Amino acid sequence: MTTQTGPAPQPGIMEIDLYVGGQSALPGRDEVLKLSSNENPHGSSPRVKDAIESALSTLHRYPPTDHAALRAAIGEVNGIDPDRVICGVGSDEVLQFVVQCFAGPGDEVIHTEHGFSLYPVLIRAAGATPVKVPERDRVVDVDAILGAVTDRTRIVFLTNPGNPTGTMIPGEEAARLARALEGRAILVHDGAYSEFADGFDGGIGLVDAHPNVIATRTFSKIHGLGGLRIGWGYAARDMIDVLTRVRQPFNLSTVQLAAAEAALRDTDWVEFCRADNAAMRAWLRQALLDLGLEVDESHANFLLVRFADEQAALAADAALRADGILVRRVAGYGFPEALRITVGDEVGCHRVANLLAKHLGRA
Ligand SMILES: *Cc1c(COP(=O)(O)O)cnc(C)c1O
Repeated sequence: MTTQTGPAPQPGIMEIDLYVGGQSALPGRDEVLKLSSNENPHGSSPRVKDAIESALSTLHRYPPTDHAALRAAIGEVNGIDPDRVICGVGSDEVLQFVVQCFAGPGDEVIHTEHGFSLYPVLIRAAGATPVKVPERDRVVDVDAILGAVTDRTRIVFLTNPGNPTGTMIPGEEAARLARALEGRAILVHDGAYSEFADGFDGGIGLVDAHPNVIATRTFSKIHGLGGLRIGWGYAARDMIDVLTRVRQPFNLSTVQLAAAEAALRDTDWVEFCRADNAAMRAWLRQALLDLGLEVDESHANFLLVRFADEQAALAADAALRADGILVRRVAGYGFPEALRITVGDEVGCHRVANLLAKHLGRA
């Protein structure tokens, strides 16, 4: 037992396990191929640099509090009402607003077995109780979620496509979940990877049909702006009105707002990144299947690669590291036998496939 001598924090705070991000450096190596955080290998739109340079001349001014220009762009590009959009410091902040506003001590918040490890952090930070529900063969199980709902359930987190699984549930299943929760709990549809899923609206239709759903999106993945921290949420006006009350008025800087708008409006760049990811994801998956590895079809920008057992996964990870390639170990997500590998560019994908072929004696 640790002895706490400082001021006592609120209940739940000391039960928070610190979030562990993807490793970004290897000791003794100047250059690594970082495939551990689902970043865009092509970076952000070239237009982002110009937008940031223009924003630099007004840094002595406070940014707008209403994010009107960015919300208008989000509205235009996605065909939605900008008044039902809220922007945050990454979608992480929007997720935090939801938990902070709608759950507290005595309340339960459901997340799934292999869901994003930030959810329990946010849930405990609000003093609420995380409830972990099993998935079925690495796919979210709507019936299992519904079976775990109690009178205390306030929020359900659904990552769709899932991280680190890359799997999705069909639209009808998401709708069934939203409908069953209506009047009982909020459904957070975390669509951090939705742009990578073929023909998917990222939860927008679900929000339009159900007042208890919020869809969250991010600039960190397909837009290549993880370092700048911008995300947004789309929900019914009533819910946005609640969330806006806890948002700091100047949560997004002038630079963030300008960069995000430029990235979003460069739809050609987004389409290039989407198409390249789809092609390389299919190529890499086939290459790994050919090596005898188990890899589900992914709808995101990474693959969950399953080895024979934990030892085999650790050995593969060590071989990748020895070659300067960083991928994500996902034991903490319930997959000790797997590695999550971000889909890189063509050169990166070939490097991973060749290295693993050599390591497995298949080269
Ligand atoms: C990457 C990711 C996010 C995005 O977080 P940001 O705060 O927007 O960078 C959200 N949810 C999941 C499941 C993710 O993997």
